[in-house]
Amino acid sequence: MNKKFVISLIGAPASGKGYIASCLTDELKKHYGFKDGDIADISTGELIRREKKEHTQLGQLLEKNMKEGGLAPDSIINQMLIDELHRVQAKVLILDGYPRTVGQVSMFGKLMKWFNCAVIFRDTPTDLILERVKNRRICAVCGKGQEVTNGRCEFCGGELIKRKDDAVLPDRLAEYEQETKPAVMELKQHDNFFEYEGTAEGEEIAREFCAANKKYL
Ligand SMILES: [Zn+2]
Repeated sequence: MNKKFVISLIGAPASGKGYIASCLTDELKKHYGFKDGDIADISTGELIRREKKEHTQLGQLLEKNMKEGGLAPDSIINQMLIDELHRVQAKVLILDGYPRTVGQVSMFGKLMKWFNCAVIFRDTPTDLILERVKNRRICAVCGKGQEVTNGRCEFCGGELIKRKDDAVLPDRLAEYEQETKPAVMELKQHDNFFEYEGTAEGEEIAREFCAANKKYL
């Protein structure tokens, strides 16, 4: 195997992409002889934070853009990601949440020249996700996660609050419907598109996916 294998995980926010990534990693180690350093998780959110923190040229551009109230432009995200994919020394690269716009999909097409690529899309209905996180809270004092029952932390009696991510979830889901769903429709045109039900188990997805892509592993 010469080319790196890029696996793109697409799905709604809070639909369990991190869980799928860890199942893939387990499967690759258990049945395909991969070691820790052979697999890398790459999240565009993390990359953006890093660029900004290190005040790189891209980071400054991103900063300026976000101050003006816009989302990070696709061209910057694409460039950042391509640099990272070339830089990281791993055989399998698992992308969390990329591509997420139609503009990013056109770039994804070009990635296929340099890398073997495949997409995993898990289609979880929005109302199921909202239901799942409805009662999820963390304690403002001790930080432990739990379900809201009597309104107070069951460990220390502290105030229970929504996780920051959960509080903005409805907005992020709306953005997903508007921006990412059309991107998914385009991605479906590619050969290596694998779609799974929202209820499918992570282990099962990992097993099926790896078997179907054995030639890249
Ligand atoms: Zn507590």
